[in-house]
Amino acid sequence: MTLVGVVGAGIMGAGVAQSLAQSGHAVRLVDISADALRTALDSIELNCRMSRMLGGPAVDAGEVLDRITTGTDLELLADTEVVIENITEDEALKRDLYPRLDRICQPGCVLVANTSAIPITRIASWTGRPAQVAGVHFMNPVPMKPAVEFIPGHHTSPEAQRTVRELLESMGKKPIDVNDACGFISNRISHVFMNEAAYLVYEGVASAETIDEVFRSCFGHPMGPLQTLDLIGVDTVLQSIEVLYQHFADSKYRPCPLLKQMVDAGLLGRKSGEGFYRHGPDSRGPADSAGRNGHLTAVRSATDH
Ligand code: NAD
Repeated sequence: MTLVGVVGAGIMGAGVAQSLAQSGHAVRLVDISADALRTALDSIELNCRMSRMLGGPAVDAGEVLDRITTGTDLELLADTEVVIENITEDEALKRDLYPRLDRICQPGCVLVANTSAIPITRIASWTGRPAQVAGVHFMNPVPMKPAVEFIPGHHTSPEAQRTVRELLESMGKKPIDVNDACGFISNRISHVFMNEAAYLVYEGVASAETIDEVFRSCFGHPMGPLQTLDLIGVDTVLQSIEVLYQHFADSKYRPCPLLKQMVDAGLLGRKSGEGFYRHGPDSRGPADSAGRNGHLTAVRSATDH
């Protein structure tokens, strides 16, 4: 059993905390928002109860929740052995957090960055312990996904790599080794797909449903790129594409303006109840309120087909 800190209790932080606790680890879950912590505990409880139905193992929700302590104070992480960071994909926010983690966490603690795109060596440079910083790109939903991208930074020590690998294996996650590069493997490719799919909607070429249908029926993908975009979060995908665009200064990563407008309009995907699709118990199907004005009309006209 390892005492693991999890920072950020959004979609990924909640999933990481659940997976750790399900594997018998003690978890300290920290977020700046008490609301986010409450929502995380609710979703962990629900996911545990539904685990069997979703094809996972039978999970005792009470036991899992008993292993998770929550709080808004980073000091809660002072005695943890590993910290997994899952805060918003905003370089300024992460850059502010890491020096604080470095000060608060004990010297032996390994800091693990769960980022979509920011290079791990850069994150490590914000701390005084680059040998003890590694990257793990978890997949969403975390409890259901059997593999992760494992990204050591330039300075990550063999000991720190072993600690993280052992923790991942104890969680039933297969680490796939990836060299440190912006967007790693998965997002370097998937974010181009998702961004280009958003452009197709923006230009009125096809509806979200039609685009996703092509990926499901022709390519055999379980989900289309716009369903995936809604699952990840429109804000998170936009932030990650912006990281890729700035890093490579290459127009192939130019973020689709529709994504920016959707974020401004609060259409963030599943987490807000609406994105390219409407989500929730009685709101299945394509979104229509995304077409209130300006370019967002493209979503409506394309989904009206
Ligand atoms: P999210 O928006 O659902 O949650 C982010 C959480 O971080 C929020 O609860 C927010 O209150 C909290 N937060 C922000 N600043 C903080 C701070 N300084 N201290 C503590 N908490 C803070 O985001 P998410 O989808 O869970 O993504 C988290 C990270 O995981 C991002 O870096 C993202 O790129 C990466 N990621 C996301 C996915 C995905 O499918 N959503 C997949 C892999 C990796």
